[in-house]
Amino acid sequence: MQVKACQLCGKLAPVTYTCKQCQREVCEACFKHDVNVCSECYSRLKKGMPLFTFPLKLFLLGFALIFLGMIFLIASSILYGNVQTTTGVVILVGPIPIIIGTGPHSFFAILLAAILTILGIVFFLLIRK
Ligand SMILES: [Zn+2]
Ligand SMILES: [Zn+2]
Repeated sequence: MQVKACQLCGKLAPVTYTCKQCQREVCEACFKHDVNVCSECYSRLKKGMPLFTFPLKLFLLGFALIFLGMIFLIASSILYGNVQTTTGVVILVGPIPIIIGTGPHSFFAILLAAILTILGIVFFLLIRK
């Protein structure tokens, strides 16, 4: 029977496992069976977590666009002198926008909000590629 040395900790092991990430042969103690990688690659994968950082960026971008939309709405309200009565709110639920507007100039506010929402969706689709 061939006894190999673990390429991670150097110990002689009767059974070795091949890491699917770095292709190294490691011993039982250095291998993570649930993900089929060595402990070194496992900790690296855990640190990276690219799946978790990506939606956060999208979320922040969406939030920034909504914030920008609010600034536009407030600015348009001030321009028309109807701060109390004109309101337009865009709520983005994923890629689906919900636009709420009230007041005499709400059409203008909604129009601005809709343009920003479309821009937001375009950004969303471009980033997803
Ligand atoms: Zn080992
Ligand atoms: Zn590895």
